[in-house]
Amino acid sequence: LGRRINSAVSEVTRSSVVDSNVVDNMLKEISNALVEADVNIRLVISMRKKLKTKIESEDKPGINKKKIIQKAVFDELCELVDCGGAQVFKPKRKQANVLMMVGLQGAGKTTTCTKLAVYYQRRGYKVGLVCADTFRAGAFDQLKQNATKARIPYYGSYTEVDPVTVAADGVDKFKKEKFEIIIVDTSGRHRQEKDLFEEMVQIEDAIKPDETIMVLDASIGQAAESQARAFKESSNFGAIILTKMDGHAKGGGAISAVAATNTPIAFIGTGEHIQDLESFTAKQFVSKLLGIGDIQGLMEHVKSLNLDQKDAMKNFQEGKFTLRDLQTQMNNILKMGPLSKIAQMLPGGIGEMMNQVGEEETSKRFKRMVYVLDSMTGKELDSDGQIFIDEPSRIVRVARGSGTTVTEVEAVLLQQKMFARMALQTKNMQQQMPGGMGGR
Ligand code: GDP
Ligand code: MG
Repeated sequence: LGRRINSAVSEVTRSSVVDSNVVDNMLKEISNALVEADVNIRLVISMRKKLKTKIESEDKPGINKKKIIQKAVFDELCELVDCGGAQVFKPKRKQANVLMMVGLQGAGKTTTCTKLAVYYQRRGYKVGLVCADTFRAGAFDQLKQNATKARIPYYGSYTEVDPVTVAADGVDKFKKEKFEIIIVDTSGRHRQEKDLFEEMVQIEDAIKPDETIMVLDASIGQAAESQARAFKESSNFGAIILTKMDGHAKGGGAISAVAATNTPIAFIGTGEHIQDLESFTAKQFVSKLLGIGDIQGLMEHVKSLNLDQKDAMKNFQEGKFTLRDLQTQMNNILKMGPLSKIAQMLPGGIGEMMNQVGEEETSKRFKRMVYVLDSMTGKELDSDGQIFIDEPSRIVRVARGSGTTVTEVEAVLLQQKMFARMALQTKNMQQQMPGGMGGR
């Protein structure tokens, strides 16, 4: 999707005359790409109309049309996914905030409960977990295990079969003990069944949550919309948590779910571990959707580790990225681990490679890429890579010197080129957006 939208926009950027024909073609291309990425077709059509109006209304002489288009596409997607700036739930201190999780089986409710508990605990809240899933055998054990690992107090029962009773008892207990955040895990079913919705409504009636949160699997594509709609009919959830955003899923379906239920996304789940929860920001989400890569997040992560990256950062902000920058970044990445997390933030298919061949193999390939870079001369490293195209014999030399292959050297050069392109894109976008990328 990202590639197609970007290429549609750069198509316009390339053509010297931007007439309404060119704009129409671009909008058509972008629309097709969005539909393919599981965004609802009606939504896409309305977005297309809006974009056209916007682009035409800003068509004044002296204004750069290409920039307007780029920014309009980005903004429009942000607005869609940001749910018109709707506020997500903010728990209040020194009082009980009851949060109830709903969603289909396997969506990630139980996992997310603990993640969320840890998130709030780290922010100084007194947090407790309640397991109201009496439907699935082993559900309480799963929650108990997670909670114990994270040192979160929990409540559940092996004998009580009525989920409403367990939920009410647990919430009561924690309220009495002055807990500030009480997270109630509920059961799911494989499909949207009457039973499930009835149970959900009964629990809601019994515990009167301050917020109900729907947990939605990002990898289910188009189905996200109908699923969210169906849940909204029985439960007026006020926030969505999108899970499994660490995989292939780009979350196009979630945009439709947000729009259909007029409910904002509060967090995204980015892995199976307790710490893999991030608060949601529209700009980052859309950047990923458009394939720009979460370079801001990556840079921040690198920065937080206090690694050597000053020059790369400086270059990047100037829209440049040399092979030496790539070398620095790759070395940093190897130092950072776990690779899987970092890989997802990188553009150019590293994340995909990771998903296909696994962490160990990716790590091996990474190291070989570093060998390649280590075999380059200073002059080569400080170049933008053109030197290798001008003198291909250098590629053979580096391959030999590093004990790798010509293909591997070429892959490194390609990687650097992608980063360089991204640096340029990021610079262009940042120039148009006060406040820059990332963050609401
Ligand atoms: P529930 O049935 O809704 O309670 O779902 P679970 O919490 O039991 O999760 C189902 C599966 O999804 C488990 O294997 C989890 O480890 C996995 N899972 C949950 N959230 C994420 C996530 O953000 N990323 C990944 N990769 N896996 C997740
Ligand atoms: Mg569960």
